[in-house]
Formats: sequence, C-alpha cells, structure tokens
Amino acid sequence: MNYNSPGHRPNPYNTQATYRQKRTSSITGALLCAILFLVVILVALIVIAARNKNPIDDVPDIPSVTDSTPASGEDLPALPPPADPIMTETYDPAFIGPPAPITEPDSVIVTVSNSDIHTGNLILINKDHPYVFPDEQPQTTLYGNKSPVYQLSTISISLNKSLFPIFDGMLVDFSKATGCNKVLVTSGYRSYDFQKDLYESRVKSQGEEKASLYVALPGNSEHHAGLAIDMVIFADGRQYYFPEYEDAAWIIENAPEYGFFLRYTEKAQEITGCAPEPWHYRYVGAPHARLITDMDRCFEEYHEYLRTFTWAEDRLLVLSDGTTETTDGFHLPDAGYMIYYVPSAEGDTTDIPVPPESQYEISGDNDAGFIVTVKLG
Ligand SMILES: [Zn+2]
Repeated sequence: MNYNSPGHRPNPYNTQATYRQKRTSSITGALLCAILFLVVILVALIVIAARNKNPIDDVPDIPSVTDSTPASGEDLPALPPPADPIMTETYDPAFIGPPAPITEPDSVIVTVSNSDIHTGNLILINKDHPYVFPDEQPQTTLYGNKSPVYQLSTISISLNKSLFPIFDGMLVDFSKATGCNKVLVTSGYRSYDFQKDLYESRVKSQGEEKASLYVALPGNSEHHAGLAIDMVIFADGRQYYFPEYEDAAWIIENAPEYGFFLRYTEKAQEITGCAPEPWHYRYVGAPHARLITDMDRCFEEYHEYLRTFTWAEDRLLVLSDGTTETTDGFHLPDAGYMIYYVPSAEGDTTDIPVPPESQYEISGDNDAGFIVTVKLG
C-alpha cells in the first residue's frame, strides 16, 4: 500500500495539534479541580471554626452591679434557692450540725488579795501546808452559846464563828431525828501554843513516831483554823467512836449535808500520813463534803481534782441530786453548784471571774490559788 508522504496534504490526524489541545484541556481540568478542592477545604475550615467557636462568647452580657443594686432601704432581690445537699448513705437525720462555738461566758471580776490564799473553808492544812495564822480569827465559844442537845469535854472549846451555827444546827437535827443527846465535843479551835503542848506531851508518852501519827505538828493542825471538830458519843460511862454506836450512824450519813466530812480514814492514811481518826470532822461546805465523801477521796486528792476545773476551760457542776458533770458550753442547770479553780496571779492580787448577780464563795487553797463555789438557781 502506497501511502503519501507526510506534508502534502492536511493531515486530519495532525497528532501534534491534537496533543496540544489535549494538553491544554488537561491543565484546565486540573486547575479547576485544585480550585474546587481549595474551596471545599476553605468551606470545611469555616464550618470547623464555627463549631469550635469559644463558648464564653455566648454568655449574655452581665448587667453591671451598679445598675442592679437597689437603693438603700429597698428589699434585696431574692437569692436563688440553695443547691440540694449531697446525701450519702451515712447521713444521719438526727444530726443537727456541728456544736456552736464556745464563747466566753458573762462574768464580773472580783479582785482578791493573794494573801487570802491562806483563808477560807477549803484551805488544805497538812504536814506540807502549814496554817498561816491571820491577825484576827473570830471564834465562838460553844459554852453558853450552844444548844443543850450535846455536851462539851471542857468549857473552853470554840469554833470558827461562821461555822458554829451550822455545826450546832446539825446536832439539833441529829437529836430530833434520833432522840440522842450523847454527843460529846472534845476539841475545836486550837492555838499554836496549845498544839505545841499537846504534841510534846504525846511525844513524851508515846515517842515521836507514834505521836506524829495522831497529833499534827504545831502549826500544821486543821484545828488552828477552827474548821475541825473532834466528837464522840459519851454513854454508859465511856466514850464510843461513831461507828461503834448505833444512833451515831445518822451523823456519819448526814454530816456531808451540813458541810462536814471525815478527814482521816484508813484508806487515806498513805496520803495523809495520819492514823484513822473516826472522831475528827472537817468543815468545807455542803457540796464539797458530799463530793469528797461520795468520791471516797481524801482532802489532798480532792484538791488535785479541783485544780483540773477552770473558768475558761471546764467547770465542775454539782446537780441538785448530788451527781456531777462538767459544763457543756454554758448551758447551766437551774439548781446546784458550779465549782472551778483560779490560780493566783503574779503580784499582790488575783482577778477572779464569777457569773454576774450570782451567789458565790471564794476560798484559798493554802497552796497556789483559789477555789470558787457558785450557787446556781
Ligand atoms: Zn481533831
């Protein structure tokens, strides 16, 4: 087959032109695709950006405080209701919330001289705490003043003036209750010289070791304060100690109600250093004598106990039925006693807080502070 040589006639199949056309259309298509792709990407970015828009931009404008604050005297806008409390399985419906904070109770201050530490019904007198004799020591001689329902071993016996009517009243009540008039008072107030003679006489007859078991050294006897009484029963021509005589059980039982307690017991001997003395009663006041007796503590131990109660921290309550508890906040009972200790301050005086308009008694402890007894109700 004879084919014409190229170039003599238009070649409908000019391959070079066709190629150029094809190439041109191919470039245009790619360009369109790229533009389309870019458009799609751009749209996608706009959509994503719109979705991720910062939510804080959506918070509506908060009206200014100044604008919404009511004028003085207007009602404040109601607060939104509180969120529901989170309940747990351990929730106790009886729980009423934490205790109210303890605040200082109302008080007035009584200023006392630090020398008064050696005076009062609660002073501790023993071999380590000698009695400090005051300039004046009012005593009442029993002879000529006492009721006729008990007897005296000598006419010189006297007692602390404030204590005498209480003691006399106790023996009147004893006589009324039992019909017994056989109490014999053998000792009350003693001067230093009287105690000195007594002690030296006992040392001569029994030796120093035994004498010191029964007779305090001069200056260290409770009798110096007029707050101690020795008494027995005199019947059938002889003396009986109270535990030996049936009617005297009334005194043993009721003496604390009048403020007296048995000072030297067998149990206390290790601490007091004194032999048991069933005849020696000490006056301290009703709530204290009852506590000492019921707690079965000796006076030295009782002083240690009272020092744990202070006005600011914890005070001892003695309720009307004789039971005790400590102050719970400041909810005090209507009746009974409140007792606390105040250490003496540096210097010449000590400020002692007491409840306003209360009936109270302040006694030195003859050591380092004061014991306050407040009558409640
Ligand atoms: Zn005595």
